[in-house]
Amino acid sequence: MNDIGVRDAGVTDVDVVVVGAGQAGLSSAYHLRRKGFEPGRDFVVLDHAPRPGGAWQFRWPSLTYGKVHGMHALPGMELTGADPARPSSEVIGEYFAAYEDRFGLHVRRPVDVRRVREGAGGRLLVETSAGTWATRALINATGTWDRPFWPRYPGQETFRGRQVHTADYPGPEAFRGKRVVVVGGGASGTQHLMEIAPYAAATWWVTRRPPVFADGPFDEERGRAAVAMVEERVRRGLPPLSVVSVTGLAVTDAVREARANGVLDRLPMFDRITPTGVEWDDGRRIEADVILWATGFRAAVDHLAPLRLREPGGGIRLDGTRAAADPRVHLVGYGPSASTIGANRAGRAAVRDIVRLLGDEAVAVPAPEARVAGAEVPVPA
Ligand SMILES: Cc1cc2nc3c(=O)[nH]c(=O)nc-3n(C[C@H](O)[C@H](O)[C@H](O)COP(=O)(O)OP(=O)(O)OC[C@H]3O[C@@H](n4cnc5c(N)ncnc54)[C@H](O)[C@@H]3O)c2cc1C
Repeated sequence: MNDIGVRDAGVTDVDVVVVGAGQAGLSSAYHLRRKGFEPGRDFVVLDHAPRPGGAWQFRWPSLTYGKVHGMHALPGMELTGADPARPSSEVIGEYFAAYEDRFGLHVRRPVDVRRVREGAGGRLLVETSAGTWATRALINATGTWDRPFWPRYPGQETFRGRQVHTADYPGPEAFRGKRVVVVGGGASGTQHLMEIAPYAAATWWVTRRPPVFADGPFDEERGRAAVAMVEERVRRGLPPLSVVSVTGLAVTDAVREARANGVLDRLPMFDRITPTGVEWDDGRRIEADVILWATGFRAAVDHLAPLRLREPGGGIRLDGTRAAADPRVHLVGYGPSASTIGANRAGRAAVRDIVRLLGDEAVAVPAPEARVAGAEVPVPA
């Protein structure tokens, strides 16, 4: 609506916009439906990827379904009978497509959400490649895949070999006969090394901190402790940590074997990159053809910048899934809920909270024009 209360052309009103149709977004959409919200009329799910599957659709073909551990099904529909030898991108893509169909979620794609900003009448304006939605609440479920993190090192631009990030990892064949430096101490780094080692001429593993291998089963208690640690950071407005940094690396049989074979012998971080490899201040050097950056991802939340949710610590402070700075905005799949099970739960929690918000004008955010005009809030006598 503009200042005189007339709806601008091309702006559609809804109660809730869900941005992202990965695990977190679909779980949210499912719970919205269960609470009686109609897709298309009361809420809309927008995703800029070409197909169903969230970030899974982009994962490398050698990440088969059998190699994915601890993938939780979406609420209300199991994933059964999948062939563990098929790429997880296909299995999960098909499963998400069937899920969207079964629950009639009508995901709109490809629709890129470019900016979310304050609108009139207490609504948020969600500006996209396919028009603008004016919404009373927003569930942001954009994951991290779209924001690969590349650290910077001196000399990086002079390297004559190839630099690749996990986000563009093509599978092990592409490294046949190459000398490969893998950077990063997370699960992706170790998985890349174990896959590439049989093909490559040589591999080296470089990490900032010595990796922590966590022997023993990853039971519920360890999971809970890890989630609590990330939750605590997010409550303080700090950027969330990666899961591995709080759980340690799971020791599977393959990891045990790779450690015994020296594939997971680790070197400290190099000091610079040269045209032909990497170098340390103590004179050590490695000649390499490829540097593979398995250095993780950051939350893809740039489109929320106009809402100024970020704390001085660099993160978005949350109360549960709700942004502490704006009760209309929920972040699901962010920080402590950045796992398939966490995303499921976060979707349910966000919807519960939004139902309360929409049903209770007392907690509604004052209309921005009232705020701008400095209108006084009547105080009960
Ligand atoms: C290699 C790898 C393996 C993993 N294995 C496991 C595992 O075994 N078990 C487990 O629990 N977790 C695993 N995880 C983590 C897991 O993938 C995530 O926690 C979970 O699937 C993420 O779901 P999500 O919905 O938050 O994000 P995503 O799946 O990333 O979905 C986000 C969606 O938002 C869309 N989007 C982003 N920005 C915009 C925008 N501006 N406009 C419109 N759409 C947008 C994207 O297109 C995408 O579809 C793994 C992660 C990786 C990288």
